[in-house]
Amino acid sequence: GVMAVDLKSLVRSIPDYPKPGIIFRDITSLIEDSAGFRQACQQLADSHSSKGITKVAGIEARGFIFGAGVAIALGVGFVPVRKAGKLPGETIGQNYALEYGVDTIEIHANAVNGDDNVLLIDDLIATGGTAVAAISLLRRTGATVSHAGFVIDLPDINGAEKVRALGVSVEALIA
Ligand code: IMP
Repeated sequence: GVMAVDLKSLVRSIPDYPKPGIIFRDITSLIEDSAGFRQACQQLADSHSSKGITKVAGIEARGFIFGAGVAIALGVGFVPVRKAGKLPGETIGQNYALEYGVDTIEIHANAVNGDDNVLLIDDLIATGGTAVAAISLLRRTGATVSHAGFVIDLPDINGAEKVRALGVSVEALIA
């Protein structure tokens, strides 16, 4: 369909958040716009509608917002990829490096399996470290992960290349 909204114009850039020198891309202004929010989810769904996707996985927390919309548009279930300690059932976890220290993401161990073809969704890809960890975690269940979608790519940082190196296609709506 016709893509009427300029998504880039709906993303705010906030200087010196969360630290001096960082320009934070804020998607709250995008999701507060009904047409923009709908279009972002619909575009990410449309480009994956013929890929045989069986589940959408979204990364906490902003990946939940877009991932849920994409899952509904594709007619599949949603799997939350959470920070450690948040999921009540049996979990599997994956550590990944941050600028300083490490973090852990988790999924329920039975959330996906070898019959699944998972689309990974997050709001933004920077270094790609979070997405690479999520792909590794999902694949440990035997699930196929061949596609990832982001609202925003920060292309100067080359995170998308790290994801593509895993054999995963990367779509970003705003670069
Ligand atoms: P990466 O692991 O370096 O690719 O960072 C991506 C993760 O950090 C995603 O889960 C994003 O939600 C978050 N993130 C990093 N920078 C920003 C930003 O400027 N705006 C919103 N989220 C960000």
